[in-house]
Amino acid sequence: MTPTTPPTLTRETLGNRDQADPLAATRDAFSLPPGVIYLDGNSLGAMPKATAARVTDLVTRQWGTDLIRSWNTHDWIGAAARIGAKIAPLVGANTDEVIVADSTSVNLFKLACGALSLRPGRRVILTEPGNFPTDLYILQGLERLLGGRAEVKVRDREDLPGAIDGDTAAVVLTHVHYKTGECWPMAEITARAHADGAVALWDLSHSAGALPVDLNAAEADLAVGCGYKYLNGGPGAPSFVFVARRWQNEIGTPLAGWMGHADPFAFGDDYQPAAGIRQQLCGTPGMLGLTALECGVDTFAGIDMSALAAKGRALGDTFIALVESRCTGDALTLASPRDAARRGSHVSFRHPMGYAIMQALIARGVIGDFRAPDILRFGFTPLYLSFAEVWDAVEILREVLDSGVYLEPRFSERSAVT
Ligand SMILES: *Cc1c(COP(=O)(O)O)cnc(C)c1O
Repeated sequence: MTPTTPPTLTRETLGNRDQADPLAATRDAFSLPPGVIYLDGNSLGAMPKATAARVTDLVTRQWGTDLIRSWNTHDWIGAAARIGAKIAPLVGANTDEVIVADSTSVNLFKLACGALSLRPGRRVILTEPGNFPTDLYILQGLERLLGGRAEVKVRDREDLPGAIDGDTAAVVLTHVHYKTGECWPMAEITARAHADGAVALWDLSHSAGALPVDLNAAEADLAVGCGYKYLNGGPGAPSFVFVARRWQNEIGTPLAGWMGHADPFAFGDDYQPAAGIRQQLCGTPGMLGLTALECGVDTFAGIDMSALAAKGRALGDTFIALVESRCTGDALTLASPRDAARRGSHVSFRHPMGYAIMQALIARGVIGDFRAPDILRFGFTPLYLSFAEVWDAVEILREVLDSGVYLEPRFSERSAVT
């Protein structure tokens, strides 16, 4: 039987909820185009209003006028650590445990390599099938590079904890699954890894800025995360790296670049690692990207992460309840955990025509995304979404499904990026 929409869920009651929402004001920090309901902040965060002016200042005044002096006068050289320190409280880390560098893929490579070096004599890296592709590909590449000295094992979610043993060097998992939004219990799996002497490396790409992550409470060893999703750092923004203090001077890096040297401007011939997290830097940081990322991270200043997560969950719960009670003609199947406590900040539904439905939604200004083979993914970014928008998005979805407009061939034409 089809559920009926709870009487408490009307556009009016949801509008009232927005009135009472302590986070409603943060939307004003973002530039969002009119006529768009943006449900894809989990893939590319919206642009903070401050970004354009800050990047322009970087380009015209700092680069254009102050030129190379800016490394010192505008503290370009300190940006990677400064922004890392601002990300640290969002992920439960100390300020000297996080630094911004490179891409998530590159950081995964560095830390997976590092994890093996922390566990000499062990060669197994354990992960799950269906993990984000780059995580799997990077590990497979490392396996090829190291020949017999590394072996990647993939185990299903239910079997993975039991597969950790004395050969396991590292467990490498994505905290919030990119398709389903399902959360791994970070503290529990980390403890399980430690019980057999393995280290835990977490990918926080879909968690940082969406959930109150607590790396140190979970005793996590290593982590990476993405700058352009919930952190609003702009397309291709640099990524962040976390190394727990206890490992920082032991882990090393396979990409021993000059920016991670103890004294880069001594220009010596021999590599001497910098102390602490700075060792994870490789080459010269890209200041355009870092500047935009800092604007994104600054949107979290003063935000209570548990209130943020609570709103994200409530938005997701509202969406699920409305879709299941109002979009009844054409079956969408929930692909995310129904229990919000086990979910990140996005909700996914399956439909065999998922791609075309998403294209028809986007044509009507409801922007989510599609993940092959059949997942429609909707991100609920608490910093800039309202409950009334959830109502409006579901009404548009209902219209798309009921009218069958998505069956028009133009909605099935594939673009390079889905
Ligand atoms: C988005 C995402 C990445 C991104 O990696 P890039 O190197 O920035 O392309 C990595 N891992 C996960 C789990 C992601 O969701």
